[in-house]
Amino acid sequence: MTRSPTSNKVVAVIGAGPAGLTAAYELQRRSDTHKPVVFEASDSVGGISRTESHNGYRFDIGGHRFFTKVEEVEQMWHEVLGTDFITVPRLSRIYYRGKFFDYPLKIFNALKNIGVYETFRIIISFTKWKVRPYRTERTFEEWVINRFGGRLYMHFFRSYTQKVWGIDPKLISADWAAQRIKNLSLPKAVWNALTGSNDTASLIEEFQYPRLGPGMMWERCTEKVIENGGEVQMNTKVVQVNREGNRVTSVDLESWDPDSDPADKTGNKITRFEADEFVNSMAMRDLLHCMQPPPPQEVLDAADKLSYRDFMIVTLVLDEKDPFPDNWIYIHSSHIKCGRIQNFRAWSPEMLPDQNTASIGMEYFCQEGDGLWTMEDDDLTALASQELEELGLGSASSVIGSAIIRQPKAYPVYDDEYQGALEVIRKWMENLENFQTVGRNGLHRYNNQDHSMLSAMLAARNIVGENHNVWDVNVERSYHEEFQISSDKSNTDARLSTA
Ligand SMILES: Cc1cc2nc3c(=O)[nH]c(=O)nc-3n(C[C@H](O)[C@H](O)[C@H](O)COP(=O)(O)OP(=O)(O)OC[C@H]3O[C@@H](n4cnc5c(N)ncnc54)[C@H](O)[C@@H]3O)c2cc1C
Repeated sequence: MTRSPTSNKVVAVIGAGPAGLTAAYELQRRSDTHKPVVFEASDSVGGISRTESHNGYRFDIGGHRFFTKVEEVEQMWHEVLGTDFITVPRLSRIYYRGKFFDYPLKIFNALKNIGVYETFRIIISFTKWKVRPYRTERTFEEWVINRFGGRLYMHFFRSYTQKVWGIDPKLISADWAAQRIKNLSLPKAVWNALTGSNDTASLIEEFQYPRLGPGMMWERCTEKVIENGGEVQMNTKVVQVNREGNRVTSVDLESWDPDSDPADKTGNKITRFEADEFVNSMAMRDLLHCMQPPPPQEVLDAADKLSYRDFMIVTLVLDEKDPFPDNWIYIHSSHIKCGRIQNFRAWSPEMLPDQNTASIGMEYFCQEGDGLWTMEDDDLTALASQELEELGLGSASSVIGSAIIRQPKAYPVYDDEYQGALEVIRKWMENLENFQTVGRNGLHRYNNQDHSMLSAMLAARNIVGENHNVWDVNVERSYHEEFQISSDKSNTDARLSTA
């Protein structure tokens, strides 16, 4: 165990999501002379990986699988949760043009659904793009077309990508495809299907899941951080980060009584908290606007170029059991607004208080303030119920309850400006001596929990004297579970992550 040469240092951690709590936990594992104090703006821990509850029905902000190839993360998950993990078999499909396609895509199932004539067009299109590919792959569209051809792109990438991001895939950077999709090409998939050969063995046909949802992991982690002498202060928002030159000296906190009216801020208190080291997991754009004195104008301009996609989940309680067996279904058809549907009992039966009912999460990708985001809750429930019925997955009249969660900044957007902006920000932030930024929005990286956590672990280790580059997590230690080829003849497939 690495020991700090100095004693009793205070480390302020911004945010009690997976990254912030991991930073605190790892720090305590590595040092008994550093005290983490975590500040969380909301009234629950876990960030986007929290579990919400309504009338005893528990649900995620989108289903959260626990899967990683990062050993230290796997180890921490088990250390924290012990025997409360369950193994869940995976079943998921895509709904497209009135048909359900197996997902991960199974070549023969997909081609059967698509038909002989369209299959022929896919092959022609693929050949055409192989002969004359885009010379440069700057955008998501170019990257995918070069590997799959235009027609497959049109069927399985364009409409869903447009739904998730709300922008034309021509405007999304190829980085996103490169980060989320690996090692798949059409010939390889077909070859494996025909020969049954097996050159990649990492398909995930099952995954781990805390029996009460992902929030259980982060509630447990919070308990452990507190048991070990750390603090986790809820309803406490960091509103200012104070620095002197390249050192951060303190953060200003706004806190409130959780029972007070959120619109009435008159009782809110502002206090200052000094610390030796700082780890941040709030969104980078917000962070840079909190710095006092502010960073140079070019850094603030870069911060303003970072954008985010927001998300809503409308959880419907149905008075019928298991309307469909899948854990989740992707909805590619563009006439349906819903992007993905979760069946929470298929994740863990303990997410439901009544096993004769179903809990179905209808996920909508949106923008804070847009038509969907601002819809009245009753109208959203009606929309989700009607779409469920239109898809043939349940009847609107069986809906007996609903809960709606709006999640701002669910996805950092990889558009054509983000990379240049990040470079400018990184250059400036790397000069800060005692301040590190980690996590998904903290690094503006499309990270799942594991990489969000890994960046936080490395930050904690840096504090106790190691030397890691937090910004390069996901470059150096990347794994891509998504879009890989299976080799099993009956199961040759490709997958695209939408987490
Ligand atoms: C729909 C969806 C599905 C997903 N599915 C999966 C999955 O299957 N598996 C998986 O591993 N990952 C999944 N993810 C990704 C996962 O949610 C994130 O990687 C993870 O939550 C990021 O952790 P974080 O701590 O970096 O950030 P967050 O989870 O965003 O946590 C940040 C925390 O900081 C707090 N905060 C923000 N600003 C302040 C402030 N000024 N002061 C104090 N506190 C502040 C926030 O309230 C929040 O609690 C999914 C994400 C989405 C959107």
